[in-house]
Amino acid sequence: MVDYLLATEEQKKMVAEVHEICERELSEKKVKEYAKANNGKGEYPWAAHHALASAGYYSMSLPKAWGGRELDFVTRGMIMEEISKYDLGFAFSFRGLGEKFGAVINSHIPEADKKKWIDRQMNEHIGGCFCLTEPAAGSDPKAIETIAYKDGTEWVINGEKRFITNSTNAEYYNIVAWTDKTVSAGKGITSFLVEKGTPGFTITEKEDAMGLQLCDYSGVVLKNVRVPEDHIIGVEGRAFSSAMGLLEGVRPYNVCFAAGAAQRALDIAVKFANERIAFGKPIIEYQGVGFDLAELQMKVDAARSMAYYALTCADQGIALGRMGPAAKGWGIKMCVDVCTDLIELMGAYGYSGDYMVEKIARDIRGYAIAGGTYNIMKEIVCRGMKTKK
Ligand SMILES: Cc1cc2nc3c(=O)[nH]c(=O)nc-3n(C[C@H](O)[C@H](O)[C@H](O)COP(=O)(O)OP(=O)(O)OC[C@H]3O[C@@H](n4cnc5c(N)ncnc54)[C@H](O)[C@@H]3O)c2cc1C
Repeated sequence: MVDYLLATEEQKKMVAEVHEICERELSEKKVKEYAKANNGKGEYPWAAHHALASAGYYSMSLPKAWGGRELDFVTRGMIMEEISKYDLGFAFSFRGLGEKFGAVINSHIPEADKKKWIDRQMNEHIGGCFCLTEPAAGSDPKAIETIAYKDGTEWVINGEKRFITNSTNAEYYNIVAWTDKTVSAGKGITSFLVEKGTPGFTITEKEDAMGLQLCDYSGVVLKNVRVPEDHIIGVEGRAFSSAMGLLEGVRPYNVCFAAGAAQRALDIAVKFANERIAFGKPIIEYQGVGFDLAELQMKVDAARSMAYYALTCADQGIALGRMGPAAKGWGIKMCVDVCTDLIELMGAYGYSGDYMVEKIARDIRGYAIAGGTYNIMKEIVCRGMKTKK
């Protein structure tokens, strides 16, 4: 486990409990089996999901009034960092599924519906997913083509979403659509709550990706899907700005996941370098290898420190400014680079499936794209540097 110098006893206890559950449910053998299932497209580990949820590590961000644990970002970061050491794809899916109800709470959706979803979330560990990306719109959300129009007391939604985490696992969907194309994205894009099984709503085949096989990840298609007029998440027309606001603390939080996965890869490589003999001595004894490992550890530590600094600010209500995109962009890029370098450092063993390093290196690449690429993070940081005209 990571030695958190600033962790409280309570935080350490939680991380230790999560560690124990993951040791049991996400052993290397089990993770490899889950990854190979479904003709190599992978399978979501529901046993790990329920074990962690039953121990209270699902719905961690939700308010206590709704049955959640209302844990701060730093504590959640530590917990998710630990889970990510076992499998990044699972960690990403698990976190996403449990945290989507937060947006529903702050909506005018009827209380009975909210209660129905939260009761199922608490008792059955179900959850939701966020559907923004489309075949022709990723970095530029304004380019989405999904559209919703009002028909009497209902909204009718048509469109297609792709690369959606938890699209099969979820029971309710936050679908982002244009509702008024005559105004700006900040005023004309709305989020809708769509229930699984609604006529016209289908889920596409699981994506065949290079990694993240334990992450549930595919698309959804909406053909004349009807939802009641009050099933708007947030405020009509304001989905774009509320989504951008939500990303503030979430961006550095994501770096904790990457740091966990990269640390696992690094730990494997350090053990390997102490055991692997070349020219009569362990390869870590060669400065070319030992110094590389030291430098890679510094990079992971730097990424992690950046994330927890930003999360500490977020927990104290301090506006992050460029720290959010900087941590997400640079922090995750560091972790990606570390994993790529470790393959070379371990030679053929790094490249082979004998060790988890090649798997982590594949997983972390996909993880870096989700939620905005490095270029987009640089674009946001750069925006703040430009002289306003
Ligand atoms: C594992 C995974 C899970 C995901 N989960 C979800 C989810 O749950 N919900 C959801 O809605 N989406 C999800 N996504 C989609 C993700 O948010 C998008 O893939 C991401 O925003 C990038 O969009 P794109 O893939 O369409 O790339 P594009 O936007 O087409 O970009 C392609 C390339 O062009 C670059 N580029 C684009 N614009 C600029 C610019 N202005 N300046 C410089 N470079 C630029 C990008 O950096 C990138 O390298 C997920 C993706 C992955 C990989």
